[in-house]
This record gives sequence, structure tokens and C-alpha cells, in this order.
Amino acid sequence: MSHINPKVGELRPSQLLYTYGIGAIVDLPNLSVMVMGLEDWPADPGTSAEIVEDRLLAAVQWKLGHQVKKLLAPPVVADSSGPLNPFEPEQQTGVPVAAFPRWMLCPACRMLAPLDSGLFEFKTPNPFHPDQARYVHHNCTKSGKPPTAVPARFMTACENGHLDDFPWRDFTHKGPTYCTGVLTLSEYGPSGEARDLEVKCTCGARRRLADAFGESGKQTMPICRGRRPHLRDFEEGGCKQQVKAILLGASNSWFPVIMSTLALPGASNKLGLLVEANWATLKHAVEPVVITAFRASGNLKDFGEFSDDEIWTAVEAYRQAQEAGNGEEEGPFDLRTPEWDMLTQPAHAPQTDDFQLREVKVPPAYAALLDQVVLVYFTLAGLARLARYNVTAEELAGRQGKVRYYEGTPIPTSVVPLG
Ligand SMILES: [Zn+2]
Ligand SMILES: [Zn+2]
Ligand SMILES: [Zn+2]
Repeated sequence: MSHINPKVGELRPSQLLYTYGIGAIVDLPNLSVMVMGLEDWPADPGTSAEIVEDRLLAAVQWKLGHQVKKLLAPPVVADSSGPLNPFEPEQQTGVPVAAFPRWMLCPACRMLAPLDSGLFEFKTPNPFHPDQARYVHHNCTKSGKPPTAVPARFMTACENGHLDDFPWRDFTHKGPTYCTGVLTLSEYGPSGEARDLEVKCTCGARRRLADAFGESGKQTMPICRGRRPHLRDFEEGGCKQQVKAILLGASNSWFPVIMSTLALPGASNKLGLLVEANWATLKHAVEPVVITAFRASGNLKDFGEFSDDEIWTAVEAYRQAQEAGNGEEEGPFDLRTPEWDMLTQPAHAPQTDDFQLREVKVPPAYAALLDQVVLVYFTLAGLARLARYNVTAEELAGRQGKVRYYEGTPIPTSVVPLG
């Protein structure tokens, strides 16, 4: 890689799930950044491992649509034994984030401008101190040393879930404008609240922020542009909702949708389990002769005791079961019933190296309360509680040359086998 991706902060995996998922805004010491969509995550499977979990993928597709092709684990790099070197290439990939909102304020001269204006410069003074990463107003007239810029505290959102920058120019000029004057944001009261802020343009236009809220906001705020900053695009066909002004850091600006599943083996016989485990290869077997070719090229070493015909039959059965499963799109997707069915019938459950069930006696004191106790042996990979990820930054031109975004560096996930 020719560019450096300086680190801007750290996130724990649980934060990535519950607080700062894709599309959420992370408040770093000197920066406000958004966690970007999977399109921006490192494509290298060694860094962002694909999570092969058919039931979970099907549930996500049921909820979001079939454009979801795969599930990815957060980017992880190999643990380095020596002291952390922030310049190593493997330390420079991770959870990608982008500065958002795109409008910044210089606290010294009160200038309000978008990052695309080129008036702010991204600085990472010390690669070992990611918390010092920030934007500065490098030609500030009010301060010799370039002051650290702060994100504009206002954004807009609509009821369809779009999030956008506050329309600073149009708002100041009370409608669509081509004015390119310099905007400043001044406080004239002690509270720092919207009612005490006024935005002014060098052309003379000025407006109080209070106009963006409440009843006057309902009359003055524009129709949503359908912006999806985490995907760096706008919704096709636009959006018909009127936007509402919201504050950066508002607790209602992002909510996660959480789905969880137990990784259960799907097949119940040895051949079926092997087909399932090797499906990435076997799905390409569209006729029996391909099985023979796979075996000849050494791809089916674990299948020694089975004939090509037996494997072909199992492949066809697995494919049909999958296709039948894909057709089930009626009603809410049920992730729990298959888990319940398997866990309550331990005698019929498949046994693998990673997963075993055994029925044990109900303790006498609980005999009146419990019908059944099942012991579950389960291998946990990547126990999330122990892993930490860093979010790091990189300056890059966006796809339309408009947006700069940032990439992250994870601290490696620990793998803890149990049972
Ligand atoms: Zn300034
Ligand atoms: Zn103006
Ligand atoms: Zn919208």
C-alpha cells in the first residue's frame, strides 16, 4: 500500500454491534466519524473473514433483501509479537470510518465550511497517539497556530432513516442559493443552544438556528435528498419526507438491529456434515463428473470412505434443501425454532468436533420445574468479549472525488476454544 492509514481511535467489538454499528457516528476526541458500509471494508478474506452461517444470512436477507450477499467479521490482523509499529501495512487496515458530519467549525474565527472546501487540513501529529488526529483550519486569520476544527453540531434526518449534513447554505439564504460567500456561526447567548446561535454569510444573509426547529422548522426545512452517508450515495428514486434538524450525538440518531444465532450443524450424518463443511468447493459440482475431477485433484481428501456416486447424491440433496430453504420468505424469519428442536432432542442431533449434546439427569431440587437438562459442548471462535479493534484513518478521494474516508486498524481478536 502506498498510503498510510493513521489510526484515529479504538472500538471494542461489542461497541461495533450495539453502539457504533455501520451508519452510526463515533465521537472521537477531536473528530466525529461514521462507520462505513461493508463495501468499504477490506476485501481481503484474510482480514475480514466471511461468516458462513446460512440461517443467519437467510434471516438478514429476509429483513434487508437479497442484495446482502455475505456476512463479514470485523477486520482482524495477525498479532505482532514485538512492540506495535503503526507503520506496518498490516496495522493499517481495519474498520473503515469517514468524517461525518462533513461541515466543520473553526472555534477561533467561527468559520463554518465543508471538508470538501479544502480549508481544513487533516493532521495526525503522532502515529502512536491516535487520539490526536484532527482537522485544523490552516489559514485561520484569528490564530497563528492552526486551530483544531470541531464538527458542526447540527445534522438532518428523515423518517425513512436518511442522514444528511445540515443544509447550511440554503438555510442561511432562506432557500436554494448559488451564493459562495463565507459562512460564520456566532453565539450570542451563554447557553450554546440553537436559540443562541446565528449563521451569517459574507453577502449579508443571516438566520438564527432556532428557525430550524419546532413549528418554524416544519415550515422551512427542505425535502430529504435520500442521502446514505455510510454507502456514500443517495437512495435511488430519492425520498419524499421532509427532513428534521437533529443534534450531533442525539441518542435517537442510530439504533442497531441485532440478530443472533447458534452455529448448529445442519446435517445429521457424516457424509452430509462433510458436504456442508466443504460446500464452498462442492457447490461448483453441477454434474457427477465434477466430483470425480475434484477427487483426482486432491480436493476431497476427507471423503475417502465414500464413492463418487454417494457424494453426488449428498451434494444434490444438500442443494435441494438449500433451494427449498431460500423459497421461505413468508412471515418473520424464525431463527430460534431450529435451535430449540435440535437442543431438545439431543439423541437425534448430529455430533461434530465442534458441537455435541448429551442429556443429563435433572437435579432433584429442580425436578418440579425442569423437564430436561441438556449438556452442550460448543467450540467458540473469536470470543468477542476479549477482542478490541482500533479505528484508524486514511485520506482517500471518494468514488466521486467528493468524499474523504478513513480506515481502521484492529487489535487482533482472540480465539478461545472451550469444551
Ligand atoms: Zn479559523
Ligand atoms: Zn451569501
Ligand atoms: Zn429521506
